[in-house]
Amino acid sequence: MRLDGKRIFISAAAQGIGRASALLCAAEGAEVVATDLNAEALRDLAQENPRITALPLDVLDGAAISAFAASQAPFDGIFNCAGFVHNGAILDCGDEDWDFSFDLNVKSMFRVTRALLPGLLERADATGAASILNMASMASSVKGFPNRFAYGATKAAVIGVTKSIAADYVKRNLRCNALCPGTVDTPSLRGRINSAPDPVQAEKDFVARQPMGRLATVSDIAPTVVYLLSDESRFVTGQAVLVDGGVTI
Ligand code: NAD
Repeated sequence: MRLDGKRIFISAAAQGIGRASALLCAAEGAEVVATDLNAEALRDLAQENPRITALPLDVLDGAAISAFAASQAPFDGIFNCAGFVHNGAILDCGDEDWDFSFDLNVKSMFRVTRALLPGLLERADATGAASILNMASMASSVKGFPNRFAYGATKAAVIGVTKSIAADYVKRNLRCNALCPGTVDTPSLRGRINSAPDPVQAEKDFVARQPMGRLATVSDIAPTVVYLLSDESRFVTGQAVLVDGGVTI
């Protein structure tokens, strides 16, 4: 299997892309430590595959991350998936919106990666391969979208963080890439659609920006997560990998 012998950390694994990735990584032979703020949803996940250990973890909580790293590291791969969409243009974005977006979408990756990096290097030295995957988006430095002011800024920062880590550890067998999905049908996307003034039109608008004429499903995205965490991508580092249904053709 593609992830045999690997121990993988995933944040925000209770639903959406994180959950699908946890299930596929486990199906591909990894021992997965799936974490999320939502402890109840995580319990269901652990029941689906015995290779998944589910542990609550708030990626905004530095002390909890340190304790987690002390008890759970080392990992061969980590997928920093947690993130949040602030909906609005610059005039809709207050200081708190900006700060929260950066805290959850970017600083959490800094905290988690810094805590888990010594273990990743230990595994890279022992096995010749370790991999970090950071969740960005096509809405980032890749492309601008309406009402994604704070979000696009954070996801552009994720790409910068990714390239910096990739450059620092390229000679240590530790790779770092960013994943840039198009619009994916997940519980939070459904929330954004349902909270729009006209949900039917909102869904049509999301679909209309995808040249393939549909939203992505989580199973369109998870195989690329497996690829980037596996040794199949051993010559790929510092990349913002798009899985966007043709938006950026
Ligand atoms: P989602 O938004 O539906 O679920 C997010 C999960 O994150 C939830 O389980 C929630 O409990 C968890 N979470 C929230 N705050 C947390 C915290 N402080 N600590 C730990 N966990 C926390 O999932 P999704 O839509 O698959 O999004 C996952 C990632 O993918 C995000 O970074 C998002 O920006 C990115 N992304 C999503 C899309 C999309 O269209 N859905 C597109 C591109 C990128």
